[in-house]
Order: sequence, then structure tokens, then C-alpha cells
Amino acid sequence: MYVCRFIDGEAVPMDETAIRDVLGPVTVGGMPASGLPESWDLEAEDGGDSEVYGDSEWLTFTRFSTGAILDRVAELARRTGAVILLLDCPAILPNEADRKHLPEPLRVDAIVVPPAALTGQAIAQTIAPRPETRRRPVLPHFPYHPNPVATGSVTASDEACACCRQERGWVYTGPVYAADAPDTGICPYCIAFGTADARYDASFTDTIDGDVPQHVITAVLKRTPGFLAWQSPTWLTHCGDGAAFLGHAGTRELKAFPDAVDDLRRRCAEWGWPPDQVEDFLGSLDKNGQPTAYLFRCRACGAHLAYADFT
Ligand SMILES: [Zn+2]
Ligand SMILES: [Zn+2]
Repeated sequence: MYVCRFIDGEAVPMDETAIRDVLGPVTVGGMPASGLPESWDLEAEDGGDSEVYGDSEWLTFTRFSTGAILDRVAELARRTGAVILLLDCPAILPNEADRKHLPEPLRVDAIVVPPAALTGQAIAQTIAPRPETRRRPVLPHFPYHPNPVATGSVTASDEACACCRQERGWVYTGPVYAADAPDTGICPYCIAFGTADARYDASFTDTIDGDVPQHVITAVLKRTPGFLAWQSPTWLTHCGDGAAFLGHAGTRELKAFPDAVDDLRRRCAEWGWPPDQVEDFLGSLDKNGQPTAYLFRCRACGAHLAYADFT
């Protein structure tokens, strides 16, 4: 922590008398008769301490305690008009008028704490680690649903999982198919590791389209986060395997996947609709509304697939 005063971007001497008055009473062994020591130790009335070195232009406080030591530093800044500089923190400035005197890199971020409010506690609050956005654990790998956060099926959560009771940082927000399972609050790890399946005999997708081996059916329905749909969700398959779900899509999103549009057109034709009705339908898809398309990609050949539904 540094305490210094700036004029036009340059450090200028602080009032040495003020430094002696403020720090003298807590200086171990007392201040010399005049001037400042090159370096000295502080011991405050609450037992807190600090090492100080520098001169009236630039004081450095190292290994400082919070508490009364910071009260001294705050008093020093109030009396000398100095700024308080802390690593990785904005400069603390007692007067807005002095902002223009700060070196350019400090100017924008400096915070003004008026003298009446400039206390040790105010400094401590600046030092205190600001609440960080929480780092969340890496999600399990879902081969059939590669990015469940992007598709909206998994979202950040600080709640404990309804199944494993652990706070995993993530929660599954798609449908759950089981007689006695909680509708919400299951973590993606309980899906991936089969815990939720074992405990509730739960599935996360209603049906799978096409013929695939049993282990694929299990993996897709019981070990993969599902997705919300207007009707019962159906998982598409291709090349004898479950496809990877890429997300909800509207007409606009599908423009990039003409093979998916062809696939969707074929499925709509199976409904017995005349071609112009099918084309109207394909032009009315809405990612966030309805009808909505569900976009997949074959894990083997890369073909894009889609189906659509509505209420
Ligand atoms: Zn869990
Ligand atoms: Zn394929």
C-alpha cells in the first residue's frame, strides 16, 4: 500500500509534520527529533502493525494489519490530501478536485472517499476481495448433448442437487420423466453418472426416433440432459447412433443448415401436408416461440437433422 500526493501527475511531498503527527504515536521507538526515519515499524493500539519506508513524497506500507493501522493511513490521507494506492484496487482519493492531478492510468478508476468517510474501514472495504463471479466446475461430457448450457438445458445454480444433495454449481432445467423424481433441481452429474436413473428410474427425454442399440437408447434417454419442447421431446438418430442435440432453432437459425431444412421438410411431408403449407411452416419457425425446430447433428456423418413441433 502506498500513500502519496500528486500534482499534475507527479508525486509531491506530503506535509512532513502531518506524517509525524499521525504515525509518530504508533511508531515503535518513536520518531526522531526531526525528519522521518528511512524505514520504521508501526504498532497500533489494537496490536496491528506495519512496516513503513519511503519519504514524505512516497510512503510504502508493507505487511500491514487492517484495523487501527488503516485508521492511521486514512487519517494521513485526510490530512495531507494524499491518495492511497493498493495493488489491484482503484486509488482512493479524498477530494474529487485532485483526480485531475493523478497520473493518467489511475485517473479513471480512482474512487473518491470524502474525508468524513475516509476511515480505515473504508480502506479495508476496498481491499476486501470483491465478490468474484464463482468459478464453476467443468460439466461432465455429454456426447449426445455437447453444450447443454448453450441450449438452456443446464444452468448455473448455487443450490444443492435434489438427488445427490451436493452443491455442484449447475442444475438441469429440462424435463424429467419418472414417477417419483423431483421435477427440478437435479444436477447434470447425477444425470451423467446414472445416479438419478438408478435412484428414480428417470429418463430425461421421452422417446428416441429410429433403430439404435440398447446402450445408445440408455445413454440418450437416461444419461443425457434432455430439452424442453412443445410436445414430448424426441431424440433424433442417424447412422445407427443417437445424434448430438445442438439446440432450438427458428427459420433464421436453420438458414445455416440446409441439410437440416431438407430433413425437416421431409418430416413435414410425412404429416400429409401439401408442399405450400410445408413451406409456410418452414418459414414460420421461431427459436423462442412456436413452432420450433430442434436441431441435431449426426455424430458419424455430420449431417444436420431437425424436427419441429408446436402446441
Ligand atoms: Zn446431483
Ligand atoms: Zn449420419
